[in-house]
Amino acid sequence: MTMQLRGSPFLTSATQPIFAPGQMDACFPTMTKSIRSGMGKLKIQKSDAEWRSQLTSEQYRVTRQGGTERAFSSLDWDRRQPGLYRCVCCGRTLFSSEKKFDAGVGWPNFTAPVDDEAMTEHPDRSFFIPRTEVRCADCNAHIGHVFGDGPLPRGRRYCANGIALEFQKGLPATAARSGNPAD
Ligand SMILES: [Zn+2]
Repeated sequence: MTMQLRGSPFLTSATQPIFAPGQMDACFPTMTKSIRSGMGKLKIQKSDAEWRSQLTSEQYRVTRQGGTERAFSSLDWDRRQPGLYRCVCCGRTLFSSEKKFDAGVGWPNFTAPVDDEAMTEHPDRSFFIPRTEVRCADCNAHIGHVFGDGPLPRGRRYCANGIALEFQKGLPATAARSGNPAD
C-alpha cells in the first residue's frame, strides 16, 4: 500500500497548499449530498450557556466556536491503545483506533469515521484554501476537517482536534474489522 501524506493544511506556515481553490470540491463530488442543514435535525441541542458550563473553555472554543487546538497539544495525536473516540460534547462514538494512523501532523488522524452517519460535512472557506469541516451528527460539535490526501485506496484523512474527542479504552467485541485500517 502506498502512503501518500503531505503537510497538514492546519499548519498556518504551510507554503504548499494541497488544494487549489475549488479543487477540494472536485475531489469529493458526492460530499455535499451528506451535508445536513444543521441545527434542525440534531438529536442534542443545548443553549450556549449550557455548553459553556459543561465544557472547559478550550473544549468550548474548539467544538462550539470552530476553533483549532495547537498541534501536538492533545494526548490523542499519537495515542496507540485500542479504543473508541467519542464526541466530548455528547458522547457519540465518532472514531475507532482501528482506523487511526499517524500522519505526523500533531493531530489525531483517521482514515474513516466509525460509521458514515457519525459526522456531517460542511464546506469551510475560512482558510486560504477551501476545506471540508466535519461535525458530530448528534450535537453539531466541530470535530476537525476531512482531506483528500489520506492513505489509499480510500484516500481520506480525517484530521480531528483531540480536545473534541473523549477516549474510551478498549474495543467492543463486535467492532467492525472490515475496511482499510491503513496502519
Ligand atoms: Zn456530539
